[in-house]
Amino acid sequence: MRKINEECGIFGIISPEPLQAAGYAASAMLALQHRGQEGAGIATFYSDDTLICHKNVGLVNDVFRDFLRHVPCTNVAVGHVRYSTTGNNTVENTQPIETVHSRLTCALAHNGNITNAAELRGQMVNRGGKVFHTTNDTEIINMLLIDEMIKCRNLEQATFNVMNILEGAFSLVIATPDKIVAARDKCGFRPLCMGKLGKATVFASESCAFDCIGADFVRDIEPGELISIDRSGKEKILKQKDTSCRGLCVFEMIYIARSDSFIDGLSVYNARLEMGRMLARQKPTKADFVCGVPDSGLDAALGYSLESGIPFAPAFVKNRYMGRSFIEPSQQVRERTVNAKLNPLRAQIEGKSIILVDDSIVRGTTSERMIKPLRDMGVKEVHLRISSPPFKHPCYFGTDIDSAENLIANHMTVDEICQKIGADSLEYLDMDNLTEIGAKKGIKFCTGCFTGKYPIEVSGGDKHKFDDN
Ligand code: SF4
Repeated sequence: MRKINEECGIFGIISPEPLQAAGYAASAMLALQHRGQEGAGIATFYSDDTLICHKNVGLVNDVFRDFLRHVPCTNVAVGHVRYSTTGNNTVENTQPIETVHSRLTCALAHNGNITNAAELRGQMVNRGGKVFHTTNDTEIINMLLIDEMIKCRNLEQATFNVMNILEGAFSLVIATPDKIVAARDKCGFRPLCMGKLGKATVFASESCAFDCIGADFVRDIEPGELISIDRSGKEKILKQKDTSCRGLCVFEMIYIARSDSFIDGLSVYNARLEMGRMLARQKPTKADFVCGVPDSGLDAALGYSLESGIPFAPAFVKNRYMGRSFIEPSQQVRERTVNAKLNPLRAQIEGKSIILVDDSIVRGTTSERMIKPLRDMGVKEVHLRISSPPFKHPCYFGTDIDSAENLIANHMTVDEICQKIGADSLEYLDMDNLTEIGAKKGIKFCTGCFTGKYPIEVSGGDKHKFDDN
């Protein structure tokens, strides 16, 4: 079934004393597994300066099982989980990306999408005869870093110079044998935060990774900010002056991030509850129960229930043993296995009217396939409520939203969509309500995929030229 796919997840750790840096990275990557299930990698440094990077396609537990048995205590590690948009899910494209050069030995993990990647790559190939080993835009960052290190021989300044060259979305963690640099693009599209684990400093895409390794959250990295920490714990900060394009991806709040994370001071769980409450206020509807589509619709459904006073109840039982990489072998089998992942809970819903809350509608086929079995099991009424506005535009900043022509809201009215998916009524969350959730905490969201207005102009244009990270 077509849903929006997640982002990548990144993590870094640096400690004055050797510790199980790779082990912590693996645990953190497991906590960030929801951001990417196609590949994972960890890089660390043995004997002070030997870079070891272990990465492969697959889930965290599979990729690192053997590696962790043999890896010694080290001071620095960086990790990555990856989601790719199309067929290029190869080990070459997994991260961290390593650089071993006379001026720079490092491992880099990137979450986001560089919108001027094609242009930069063309310039580098033509000008300097650079050879690229991946189809991944992250390698461009490594190449630029080497160029800047040759010029200024200072990792912080070199990374800062690269931040000024790159356009688009990037949260970065760069590890060298004695330092970690973390940086976030000037719009702050993707999250990145810093924590403390004893004397060690940690960085992660989401704060849930800190909870899972016993680290304390310290703060978010600000848009346009670079922070470096060396082994002694010494901190250096550089900030880009113009961050007026601020725009945290609102889809992090709607769907991508874990509910137990806080991003830029806002609890993802509370944001989702509020989305549900707003939906309930937007269009009060009578029903026996409020149900959420597992897992992404559950928090908003609870919010709807709390606001409306209509009891919250499960509508589906989820098969916990079907991985996200489940491959549906043929159309015929696909048709027969639509309920393999979510099966309606007949005892709860038969003869009842329900308000069903989901996070988004992409092509409409998922909603249609979800509502039909509910009807088959005797549900009286299904009122579908969506905790986001209608998708109408592509994303250039690293979220795998379908092309505009495949987005159902682009060629059907809300009433037509409602009829097509077989719901009794359909309501999307208003854009003003969505942005208000961020505004209350001083957060400006990117809402480009709903409005077509992006925080920055997209010069590259073709989001599929490189793999998203
Ligand atoms: S266009 Fe949509 S998915 Fe992409 S960064 Fe903006 S809000 Fe997020």
